[in-house]
Amino acid sequence: MQGIAHAIKEHAARLGFDACGIAEARQVEPQQRHCYARWLERGFNGCMDWAARYCDVRDNPQLLLDGARSVIMLALNYFPHRLQPAGAPQFAYYAYGRDYHEVMRERMRLLAAFIAQSTGETARCCVDTAPLRERYWAQQAGIGFIGMNNQLIIPGKGSYFFLGAIITTLALPADEPCRLTCGECRACLKTCPAHALSEDAAVDARRCLSCLTIEQRGQLPSWVGQVMGNRVYGCDACQQCCPHNRAAQPTSVVDFAPSSDFLNLTIAELCDLSPERFRSLFAHSAVKRTRVEGLRRNASLLAANLGITKPH
Ligand code: SF4
Ligand code: SF4
Repeated sequence: MQGIAHAIKEHAARLGFDACGIAEARQVEPQQRHCYARWLERGFNGCMDWAARYCDVRDNPQLLLDGARSVIMLALNYFPHRLQPAGAPQFAYYAYGRDYHEVMRERMRLLAAFIAQSTGETARCCVDTAPLRERYWAQQAGIGFIGMNNQLIIPGKGSYFFLGAIITTLALPADEPCRLTCGECRACLKTCPAHALSEDAAVDARRCLSCLTIEQRGQLPSWVGQVMGNRVYGCDACQQCCPHNRAAQPTSVVDFAPSSDFLNLTIAELCDLSPERFRSLFAHSAVKRTRVEGLRRNASLLAANLGITKPH
């Protein structure tokens, strides 16, 4: 089985994945299940009601695929070559280019087909499409560790990576889990503009700007404007300050490159964004999740906060 594991990793590298690791498909450890339950009890999932659903499945990838034996974890770098101008309304780096669901899925399906053709076994691709603890499995598969900022940190590479999982009935030798930790560093806890992070590495989504500006529907709490700086979609502060990201290299995925239309967006344009313009800019972008109303809401809050008059 070492041979096929090696072949799968080589094929993943040929498909452009930056990391590939393997874990045994089994129930999540009790300690992790307890942490997640506690996170929900504290209401830290905020507006993300879906996080409280399918907990039994989230705890056991064998419930996602009959006869599952292995979880193959994959990582793809999205750190942009070119950043938005500092004065522009800031989008999280992951949303600069084409929707990662599309990009990851295309590559993962090719790898799943390779597994099926080589072994006759079944493989299911999950990229935010099933209740699965991607970061936990990436840590179990030896790819990296989960930092205090709740991101998966790949040693020597940083945290600007999309994660995807292929669950398969193929029994593969598991990699050693990554045992690294943040050590004494607490930079992200000190940097988070919304004080959403805590010592127990739990993100309070009710305070996290990423969750609020993307997932929350309707009005945002009034304090958000005071802490959002010039962020209009998501927040990278707890990654930007992380020492592991000093080593971040730009992605080689052309699909993740931002368009010049995107790079030239202004707060005034976003405040007045029509549904048609939203579609033309973001139909194939992760930004569509916030919908045109959400993006206009965020931009208006930003405009009010920065004292910019809306173009009406
Ligand atoms: S994404 Fe921003 S608001 Fe959320 S935890 Fe990180 S730094 Fe804090
Ligand atoms: S900033 Fe420091 S504490 Fe936070 S995730 Fe990075 S290494 Fe860990």
